[in-house]
Amino acid sequence: MSRIAVIGGGVGGLAAAARLASAGHRVMLLEQAPEVGGKLGRHVRAGYLFDTGPSLLTMPEVFEDFFADTGDPLDRVLPLRRVDPLTCYRWPDGTVLDLPADGSATGPALDAALGPGAGAQWLRLLDRGARIEAAARQPLLEAPFAGPTSLARLAVRRPGDIRVISPAATLRGLGRRMLKDERLQMLLDRYATFSGSDPRRAPAALAMIPWVEQASGAWYIPGGLHRLGLALRDRATEHGVEIHCGSPVASIETAGGRATGVVMASGGRLSADVVVATIDADVVYRSMLGARTPGLLSRLAGLAPSMSGYVLLLGLQGRTPGLGHHTVFFSRDYDAEFDAVFGGRLAEDPTIYVSKPDDPSLVPTPDRESWFVLVNAAPHGTGSRQVDWTAPGLASRYGDLILDRLAQHGVDVRDRVVTRDIRTPARIEHDTGSPGGSIYGVSANGRRSALLRPTNRSPVKGLFLAGGSVHPGGGLPLVALSAKIVADLIGPA
Ligand SMILES: Cc1cc2nc3c(=O)[nH]c(=O)nc-3n(C[C@H](O)[C@H](O)[C@H](O)COP(=O)(O)OP(=O)(O)OC[C@H]3O[C@@H](n4cnc5c(N)ncnc54)[C@H](O)[C@@H]3O)c2cc1C
Repeated sequence: MSRIAVIGGGVGGLAAAARLASAGHRVMLLEQAPEVGGKLGRHVRAGYLFDTGPSLLTMPEVFEDFFADTGDPLDRVLPLRRVDPLTCYRWPDGTVLDLPADGSATGPALDAALGPGAGAQWLRLLDRGARIEAAARQPLLEAPFAGPTSLARLAVRRPGDIRVISPAATLRGLGRRMLKDERLQMLLDRYATFSGSDPRRAPAALAMIPWVEQASGAWYIPGGLHRLGLALRDRATEHGVEIHCGSPVASIETAGGRATGVVMASGGRLSADVVVATIDADVVYRSMLGARTPGLLSRLAGLAPSMSGYVLLLGLQGRTPGLGHHTVFFSRDYDAEFDAVFGGRLAEDPTIYVSKPDDPSLVPTPDRESWFVLVNAAPHGTGSRQVDWTAPGLASRYGDLILDRLAQHGVDVRDRVVTRDIRTPARIEHDTGSPGGSIYGVSANGRRSALLRPTNRSPVKGLFLAGGSVHPGGGLPLVALSAKIVADLIGPA
């Protein structure tokens, strides 16, 4: 049995801690915030309940595996509800597409909304996504990644798979080749944002995301997605994990090239045989271990941070017809939006995502709605390619702009807003410790991004990394996969 210190109580930390404790280790989890959950947070105001982070759960099978591996199965712990349509899309030219959850209805729905032939184009793209997933899932998503070595091994064993993954192609390039309709190209581009990336620089392999969404569905948890974090916390404590909230870690101690424990910000010291850091890898290598990993620091410097997000939490009076659970209002000029977000500016005409769960437990009375509104945003900071989101009045003015844009899209809720709260990238950074408020750690921008992404095994013996900023990536299911990879690397007690 090892004594294991897990730093961070988001999905990555909770899932890793629960797996390790159920494998017989003695685990202590240290979380700086007053409660666990990390980005999977919640907010309550005036009888309205909001998720502050994730609103879309995909790949539920990853969580089914987690709960089955560690105790009671998922369906006994949390009721999941399939979302249908998957997403409702609205283009500025008036095109309306409600993408059905039932894959057999996808083609006809696209033909009806975008014109004959659109369905066939999209189905071909989904087919390519399915082949990418089949090639990449086990060797590249579910296993530890050793950078170029892993790709080289795959190239030797399964050269056809490397051709399908096309590591040198961009998502935009693939979209332009396979999709004639510009609206479908925008639809595909949007999936780059699921990894905080720019479609013009992100790898074509991200085309697996629309396929995965279609195949495994979009899911909601009644009461809010944050309940998943609470269920992970409960599973961890059932296995004896000691969770300490309000306990920021200042640094990781090493001796003779091996992790030996952590030093708390309060000055205390906890010794451990193994440390699992689930906070941003950049913070781990830059400030928790200092200059002991210079090679890694220069490698990290080659990675672009993921985009952040600007969130409006709106408590509304009245009900809004014509919107789905997830609705996306595309910008007029997607490239201008990506230029702004990755260039450190505010997008004047952002693509707006509205999540409006039909869930009575989120509202004080049935005639009200609880909205989560998200637009892509440049990270917080005062450097180049960043926005100082703490500038006086900026956050509020941007909220007004978003509501004005929604009104231009035909959804004017300005006189129905009862409560309005804002989560800027600065607030995300403050609440979760993610530099700049990055949503997914590092982006997938650039050909070498997958090769440079921090690995789960660090160069320091006994120090492992899980969470959204490391392999295999950000988003709830991938973060849970990173926790499994780390638990497998450490092994049973
Ligand atoms: C606005 C928004 C929308 C999103 N939408 C989706 C979505 O729809 N679907 C989806 O799948 N994903 C979505 N994501 C991404 C998803 O939330 C993350 O990938 C995932 O929750 C990250 O989990 P994590 O454990 O890696 O990191 P975090 O949740 O950031 O957890 C890290 C934890 O470490 C703690 N910590 C930091 N520093 C220290 C320290 N020094 N000592 C101790 N503790 C520390 C933090 O407080 C935090 O609790 C969204 C994220 C955001 C912000």
